[in-house]
Amino acid sequence: MKKTISTKPLTVEEALQRIKQDLQATSGEEQLAIRSALGRILAEDVLSRINVPPYNNSAMDGYVMRGADLPKEGKTQITIIGTSYAGQPYSETIQAGQCARIFTGAVIPAGTDTVIMQEHVEKQGDTITIGAEHKKGQHVRPVAEDIAIGQIVLRAGKQLTPADIGLLASLGVPEVRVKRRLRVAFFTTGDELRAVGEMLESGQIYDSNRYTLYGMLTHLGVDIIDMGVVGDKPEDIENAFLSAASCSDAIITSGGVSVGDADYVTDTLRRIGEVNFWKVAMKPGKPLTFGKVQAAVFFGLPGNPVSAMVTFYQFVQPALRRMMGQNAVAPVRLTVPCISPLKKSPGRIEFQRGILENNEQGDLVVRSTGKQGSGILSSMSQANCFIILPIECGGVAVGKEVLVEPF
Ligand code: AMP
Ligand code: MG
Repeated sequence: MKKTISTKPLTVEEALQRIKQDLQATSGEEQLAIRSALGRILAEDVLSRINVPPYNNSAMDGYVMRGADLPKEGKTQITIIGTSYAGQPYSETIQAGQCARIFTGAVIPAGTDTVIMQEHVEKQGDTITIGAEHKKGQHVRPVAEDIAIGQIVLRAGKQLTPADIGLLASLGVPEVRVKRRLRVAFFTTGDELRAVGEMLESGQIYDSNRYTLYGMLTHLGVDIIDMGVVGDKPEDIENAFLSAASCSDAIITSGGVSVGDADYVTDTLRRIGEVNFWKVAMKPGKPLTFGKVQAAVFFGLPGNPVSAMVTFYQFVQPALRRMMGQNAVAPVRLTVPCISPLKKSPGRIEFQRGILENNEQGDLVVRSTGKQGSGILSSMSQANCFIILPIECGGVAVGKEVLVEPF
């Protein structure tokens, strides 16, 4: 990594670009049973070794016959000579003038190609009468209609969803190769922080960032090393950095990245690691340090609880996904009318907290969660999206369209 210490804040795009340039997917793979692979990142393409469906089969309950026997006009009579059940095929070849009873999913017997729905026949004993309204080949699901032998069904870099593990099961694949889990160590910094369960004395607050970080990292599916709270002492911070670097691929801290007297995180990183950048022109979250301690990637998030979450979602999450070997997925963003006025001054991009919902007409609209201070964690709790206001925006009037990123 280049040591580029500029004092001018980067734009969000520049910061994302720098992070991207500096990261690779970690190596290391393992073979897992498909259930255990849920949520993991595929390490190789999966090709199908079978056709799905494996044979031509009926899409309906009814009668299966030769399309050539269909009457062009009037009616015709066909003799029922057997039955094809799902799981119990009819093994004889069906001749002209003959048909078989067939059920959904059952194999289309040799000689036949067309299914007549049971509702569309008149049945008397062993004979059915059918009209001229049918088409050769109807109601047959052809072999390999879904997936053909040799086809790539899932690509390396995909995070496996419930549908994916079902798809793998449908191909008879019992195990897949996945990327190993990423190890992420994190700690919070601040002399004022107390753990839940402790009593608060004057000037102290509860440490919430360690919980939001725990939650966001757990959702990402990484291995977590929670190193607790570290006080605002340079030696303690340095020791925590070194022990985190010895056991993790990435280190995340909160607090101590501004330029206050007790803000030692960036200085420590400069001393024992490398600082790539430490300021981004955004609100909330202006101080944000990115760099490296030994082989571990380092993110120093701001201490304010909303800033810590916003910077995690915008920078840390895509970075960790990249390290996990996941293919880049651009966040979904929508343009919707805003039904509350939004305050903003031009100069920095803002990630305000919003509630995206359907109004009474069923149209999508967004409203503000209210106060937007970077310490107001309840705004993140109420929100289901960021309202992204561009640098030049100087506020939003009711009814104006805004860009929204659901989370
Ligand atoms: P800092 O970035 O260390 O200057 O902290 C900025 C603000 O965030 C201060 O008001 C801190 O008390 C608060 N803060 C820092 N860390 C945490 C934390 N882990 N949980 C809750 N609030 C915090
Ligand atoms: Mg602090």
